[in-house]
Amino acid sequence: MTTHLTAGQRALLEAALVQRQHELDRRLAEHHDGLSRVAHAREVLLQDGDDAPQRENARATDLAVTDMETQELGAVSQALKRVHSPDYGVCVDCGEDIPFDRLKVEAWALRCVGCESAHEAQATGRRTPA
Ligand SMILES: [Zn+2]
Repeated sequence: MTTHLTAGQRALLEAALVQRQHELDRRLAEHHDGLSRVAHAREVLLQDGDDAPQRENARATDLAVTDMETQELGAVSQALKRVHSPDYGVCVDCGEDIPFDRLKVEAWALRCVGCESAHEAQATGRRTPA
């Protein structure tokens, strides 16, 4: 099996993944830590206005961000396990090499750009209630 990534490129991507993992770990820890304090501050700030929908929105955004970061952390951990294996950097859908330039930006990418947008369109479709 041939691979388009050199050992040096893999080492670079591995370092990027480790860095990203630490960053997400820290952000999630801060987020969990701050969530109750932030919620309390909002309650106080919004006490005299009828801002319940706005408060609900802010809470939903908090949760969505945490969700996204948790999901990304999972993807980063998976990529770290695979970074030195031959199937890393190969699109899981079409089997094409994912360009190093794309991996430099998103080292945990599982798909090439084309398959990624197709996958996202499909995922969005699935989320719609039947
Ligand atoms: Zn592909």
